[in-house]
Amino acid sequence: MAAAAVTGSTSLYSRFPQFSSSSRHRQLSISCIAVSPSPIPSSLAAKDRGVYNFAAGPATLPESVILKAQSELYNYRGSGMSIMEMSHRGKEFDAVIKKAESDLRRLLSISDEFAVLFLQGGATTQFAAVPLNLCKSDDSVDYIISGSWSDKAYKEAQKFCKASIVWSGKSEKYTKIPSFDEIRQNPDAKYLHICGNETIHGVEYKDYPEPKNMNSILVADMSSNFCSKPVDVSKFGLIYAGAQKNVGPSGVTIVIVRRDLLGDAQPITPVMLDYKIHADNASLYNTPPCFAVYICALVFEDLLDQGGLHAVEEKNIKKSSILYDTIDGSGGFYVCPVKKSVRSLMNVPFTLQNSDLEKKFIAEAAQEGMIQLKGHRSVGGVRASIYNAMPLAGVEKLVAFMKDFQARHD
Ligand code: PMP
Repeated sequence: MAAAAVTGSTSLYSRFPQFSSSSRHRQLSISCIAVSPSPIPSSLAAKDRGVYNFAAGPATLPESVILKAQSELYNYRGSGMSIMEMSHRGKEFDAVIKKAESDLRRLLSISDEFAVLFLQGGATTQFAAVPLNLCKSDDSVDYIISGSWSDKAYKEAQKFCKASIVWSGKSEKYTKIPSFDEIRQNPDAKYLHICGNETIHGVEYKDYPEPKNMNSILVADMSSNFCSKPVDVSKFGLIYAGAQKNVGPSGVTIVIVRRDLLGDAQPITPVMLDYKIHADNASLYNTPPCFAVYICALVFEDLLDQGGLHAVEEKNIKKSSILYDTIDGSGGFYVCPVKKSVRSLMNVPFTLQNSDLEKKFIAEAAQEGMIQLKGHRSVGGVRASIYNAMPLAGVEKLVAFMKDFQARHD
């Protein structure tokens, strides 16, 4: 392993000159080689890791990003420090967080009317932060419940305001999104909350409802489809997303919020949940999750290099189509319960007609290098999460395995 790294060291050093000139210790050339990035192309690295990872999150990240982070881990761009070791107020991290924000603004065409925040606490913390910032305790707010995550968001909001369910897909086991005229919105609701993509149930909005109240706003949890396709941010008052599915590791949560909504938080709002404080301090009110923000910056750069979110969406449509086609063409051997028009591009849940075979399916797939396919513990079955970073080859391998498994068990 070390020998391989040494062999490739020339090209590595020309790609990452910081390793050759600014090593922080003399013996770096030895210890660094042991941990330095392999110069092998990422296509070979895929074989190296040996698996396609279908986890729902934390989830697979682009290999080029992981390899770049590896190459910069020990000595970030000649600074003599890792990103994890430097001040969040120093010039290196300042450049990282600014680039993360500007690249994200380019990806989603986010106007200056919106603040972009890099926060902590996961999307779960946003379940409380949203009502605390956007309404008073006696205000009413509306929630559409399309799966477990919107249900959790609603239950948390109940603690801070008068939250109502305006539609629920529970009785149909969360397989649908309502048609928008079915939603019984409160005329005075301060906001309408949706979960853009239900990670567990695989239900995704393809279009967005408009709040009935002219002064109301649409709020969306986009944790599991963030940056998977273009979104017209101007239709929303607030979008939030935990990074650990599509754009980074766990530890950072991104909030995109219209600036005119800031500054009216409930008095009990903890300082760490007050969007205005974070916006006024450019997400540096306290120590941010520096490493996680750095990985997001690399991911955003990679998404721009791919041609932006239209190009990314095309790839995601192709990947999900071959998987859904395989399920639908299996004659009932595999079943996806979600209504076709709202099937997720990101999380594909399915069951086997003979549920006794599901354990075997998951175990055999893992032996073949397709891991983390088990459905969420609350629903069982199988779930293939095929976020941006899942290569088409991974999905092709999965469908080939599915067909072979069916041929052996039908
Ligand atoms: N919303 C959605 C759609 C999710 O998928 C998740 C996590 N799987 C959450 C919220 C909660 O996120 P976190 O664990 O970052 O709090």
